[in-house]
Amino acid sequence: MSEVLVLVEHVEGQIKKVTLELLTLARKLGTPSAVWAGPGYSADAKAKLAEHGAEKIYVADAADITDYVVAPKVDLLQQLVSSASPAAVLVAATAEAKEIAGRLAVRTDSGVLTDVVGLEDGAVADQSIFGGGVNVRSRVTKGTPIIAVRPNAVPVEAAAAAGAEEQVSVAVSDASRTAKVVERVKEEKGARPELTEAAIVVSGGRGVGSAENFSIVEKLADSLGAAVGASRAATDAGWYPHQFQVGQTGKTVSPQLYIAAGISGAIQHRAGMQTAKTIVVINKDPEAPIFEIADFGVVGDLNQVVPQLTEEIAKR
Ligand code: FAD
Repeated sequence: MSEVLVLVEHVEGQIKKVTLELLTLARKLGTPSAVWAGPGYSADAKAKLAEHGAEKIYVADAADITDYVVAPKVDLLQQLVSSASPAAVLVAATAEAKEIAGRLAVRTDSGVLTDVVGLEDGAVADQSIFGGGVNVRSRVTKGTPIIAVRPNAVPVEAAAAAGAEEQVSVAVSDASRTAKVVERVKEEKGARPELTEAAIVVSGGRGVGSAENFSIVEKLADSLGAAVGASRAATDAGWYPHQFQVGQTGKTVSPQLYIAAGISGAIQHRAGMQTAKTIVVINKDPEAPIFEIADFGVVGDLNQVVPQLTEEIAKR
């Protein structure tokens, strides 16, 4: 079976869940080979990748791979595409990895599919496009399929594999040294899961009414072990930090459960959340457009419904 390259997403050596999802999907297309770019590789990382189906692990852990924004990672993948002739390259549909995918496609004269939410034999992909308004089935017809998959698109399945390590040295070209990372600023994270990776997201909108009142959204999120999101109306009003904005100009989430409280469901908000598996809406206006995409809806005042829901969940 052909190799399928999976670009590992990691922060300070910790592998992100989306990588395990990519390894799960990669097995549909061939034999997964993980590609580790940058410092932080460890025995724990190796074990985790092997437990999730990585037959081979290419390790390029030189610091300059991550010092120069995305270009060295493109150099690395281009080198591996040329030496391993993989059946496909899978990356996460994050802002950085989508840029890598696009550049790699140009360099290897291949087709690229982004915002993929499902994958089948023959690298036929389900894509959520036009801000989530349309789903299409697509297949790359030229070169090596380069596929960017949204976090939370598939459940992780473990599968033991060899995890055979192969060190790779990449000559970072001068062209790749034109944009250097000068500082990394950590996102405020706290104890909650990261928004784009969370299995459950509870979001609040203008209906929440104030920054202080976002505490009821946070309490519901904490009772469920969820991340907190917000509509742009809420972030623009300064009620919640911009980094938690969900939507076209915010983050794209695809959790198992999305709870929208006091959000009307503008197309720009839907673009970031409508591939969630189950959508629960709490809104006092029965005509709010977000009910069109809701699996379950409560017509009511969120100031009453959200605390009641939190209390009920806490009892269980
Ligand atoms: P509103 O539309 O004002 O809706 C508030 C809702 O709360 C209403 O449905 C109301 O019935 C309900 N409500 C009020 N009080 C209560 C209560 N007590 N209990 C229950 N329900 C209550 N928006 C995003 O979210 N993300 C984006 O990334 C984004 N990008 C954009 C990009 C562009 C280029 C543009 C033009 C717009 C973008 N927007 C984005 C803005 C978007 O168009 C909407 O304005 C925004 O999503 C509205 O936020 P909202 O639903 O919280 O507010």
